[in-house]
Amino acid sequence: MPETLDYLKRMTSPGNITPNLQQIMDGIEQLWPASLAESWDAVGLVVGRPEQEIRKVIWVVDPSLPVVEDAVQRGADLIISHHPLMLKPVNGVSALTPKGRVIHTMIENQCALLTAHTNGDSAVGGVSDVLAEILGLEECVPLTQAAGGLPEEGIGRVGYLASPTTLGDFAGKVYGILPKVAGGVRVSGPRDAIVSRVAICGGAGDSLFDAVRSANADVYVTADLRHHPALEAKEATLDGRPYLVDVSHFASEWMWLPAAAQSLINYAEDSGWDVEIMVSNVNSDPWDFCLNG
Ligand SMILES: [Zn+2]
Repeated sequence: MPETLDYLKRMTSPGNITPNLQQIMDGIEQLWPASLAESWDAVGLVVGRPEQEIRKVIWVVDPSLPVVEDAVQRGADLIISHHPLMLKPVNGVSALTPKGRVIHTMIENQCALLTAHTNGDSAVGGVSDVLAEILGLEECVPLTQAAGGLPEEGIGRVGYLASPTTLGDFAGKVYGILPKVAGGVRVSGPRDAIVSRVAICGGAGDSLFDAVRSANADVYVTADLRHHPALEAKEATLDGRPYLVDVSHFASEWMWLPAAAQSLINYAEDSGWDVEIMVSNVNSDPWDFCLNG
């Protein structure tokens, strides 16, 4: 697993069939079914014609303009993004707006855009599943089960470390596996407290505190923790558990991309496709530096 964003993962499926966009969409649907997406989400095809031939695919967290420009420079025919480009309805896509410029850049360069968001979170092999595996969690189950999904599908994961460790060492391990971004890792809790049961949710997870508490987690790893939810969580239990490890939203979700790309390359090889699949190494974390101590 790559540890820094200096690494551009690149894989090739050596088949002899050039897939079209519809065939890739069918593969994505098998791997990360749209039915697993939350009702408020916007997943699936955003830009592109189903009959378009696809030779180069690149996985990204955010379809922001620098990320998209890098992708088209690399010759990508298809960007698969974790975050939707347009979660809110828009009245136009003119190049006068940032999102309009993204759409123009993609169409002008014949590059399609497909999104796998909460379906990617929820699936087996999804964002939190991958994080749990990299952290070596055992006996993992979802924090909240997907409606109508399998028992192992849903948002977040909770499981046990192979052996108990201190909160400080655990946070160090989390810091060590994530791509290096300006914000680093923030921790709430005593550095020498022993932790064993770990809850995790890639991306913003402050809506899951009730599930984390009922799962009896010692520590909760997630992103975007705000002052009031974090303080209230800290005061909600007598011993202060779950302790909190607050990471970069971007970094936590970027960790999914190499695993997702690997799943798609396996599907491509099984399908006999001639296609190259890459993982973007453009950092779209909005924070650039941090003043601390
Ligand atoms: Zn996210």
